[in-house]
Amino acid sequence: MKIAVGMFKHETNTFSPVRTAWEDFGPGGPLFGDEAYKTFRHSGYSMAGLLEQAELLGGDVSIPIAARALPSAPVSRDAFERISDTLCEAALRCDVMMLDLHGAMVAEHYDDGEGEMLRRIRAAAPNLPLALALDSHANITPRIARNCTVMVGYRTYPHLDMVETGRMAGRLLRETLAGKLKPVTVVRRCPILANMLRMVTSEQPMAQVIEAAAAAERDGMPCVTVFTGFPLSDTADTGLTVVATADGDIARAEEVAQKIVDLAWSLREQFNSDFEPLGDALKRAKALTAQSGSEGPVLLADISDNCHSGGTQDSMDVIEKALDQGLTGILAGPIVDPEAVAKMVEAGVGATVTLAVGGKSAIPALRTPLRPMRLTGVVKHIAEGRFTVEGPVFTGMKVNLGRTVVLDTGPLVLVVSEDRVEALDPQQFRLFGLEPTRFRYVVLKSKVQYRPSFLPLAKGAIDCNGAGVASMDLAAFDWKKLARPIFPLDRSNT
Ligand SMILES: [Zn+2]
Repeated sequence: MKIAVGMFKHETNTFSPVRTAWEDFGPGGPLFGDEAYKTFRHSGYSMAGLLEQAELLGGDVSIPIAARALPSAPVSRDAFERISDTLCEAALRCDVMMLDLHGAMVAEHYDDGEGEMLRRIRAAAPNLPLALALDSHANITPRIARNCTVMVGYRTYPHLDMVETGRMAGRLLRETLAGKLKPVTVVRRCPILANMLRMVTSEQPMAQVIEAAAAAERDGMPCVTVFTGFPLSDTADTGLTVVATADGDIARAEEVAQKIVDLAWSLREQFNSDFEPLGDALKRAKALTAQSGSEGPVLLADISDNCHSGGTQDSMDVIEKALDQGLTGILAGPIVDPEAVAKMVEAGVGATVTLAVGGKSAIPALRTPLRPMRLTGVVKHIAEGRFTVEGPVFTGMKVNLGRTVVLDTGPLVLVVSEDRVEALDPQQFRLFGLEPTRFRYVVLKSKVQYRPSFLPLAKGAIDCNGAGVASMDLAAFDWKKLARPIFPLDRSNT
């Protein structure tokens, strides 16, 4: 038996100006064969679980392509066609296929990226058993469900169960091949455009919705996933969906999916949240540092400029307002600014420099453009920003920040780099001799995924809604394709 296990992962922020070309599926383009196997077999990705299950099937396992890029603008036509073609060709040559996908990919020429690719795979190999492992931020379309055998999404956010998701998808496919399961899958959309901060699965309302899905599985359903959707994507299919797979009984799948959709809808107000003005959030942060009790810095989560949601990671808004309010002892970064890095590298360690940092990305989707900040400080450290994520989210991910510089302005110590990473691991500071626990405040470019690694070091965390293209102020974007009405944008019509 020939088993192909592939990866094509992209979460597309249709408002983001950050490019997504072939070489961005990297570093330096997608991986193939043995190199992909070495990278992902024992990683924290779903691919690891899929490969484990493929090996249990006892056949000849190969990896035609493994492509993943950071969330960014729609995938270029060239990259989409090349990666899709590779997977379609592999589908013709194998007996079983397993894919690690995101589920919220938009290509330059297709809004439903995964749906289109899967349609092509099905057209090439109509009877191919095909398992999908997906991110719970997927915007699921009926076309995705129609063109696979089984599909499973993460049950946790922060995503701590990626490997388990791959394992479950592979196991369900193995059961299907053994004739023990006849999967029938139903997709039900719930017209909610949820705030990502309200998708945390250990908190309400998600804890309740996830528990309803888990209860259905305990009650005999092979698989029920709640896909909260990725809201920063202007497509007709963006939003929350429930995908239920039953064993041969389509009516049961429909009933279960509808029941959970009804539950999510009844909790819709909790999926929305009003925004605390940035100034108020910073005042709360100041008050929190003064509180006795647990030690460590107060984390300022720069939620609107998270590169894992398509953010440019060069917004200086939160840092600037924190300094304006007189906050000191701030550690922040990395801020992506290759131009500033080049200037500081040229000046050298020990030099005092004055330069414009950050705020240089042009973002047409933002009504108020980002602005650079003029800073004077001492260049403290210059290094290559390479490390492997050891934290529990994206464990094993290889990070290359490029040349990275530490600038000390007194109240602020800023890490400036050539490339992006979400705050998943304190190594992004420790690598440059900076110990986050020695600071009063740490500004992190992240929404939620920083929590497992950084919260244990900290006194607390405050969400800071600064300027950025990953903002959860969803009413501020100019929506053109999104299916309306949808809550909360059309609150009075839904
Ligand atoms: Zn996700």
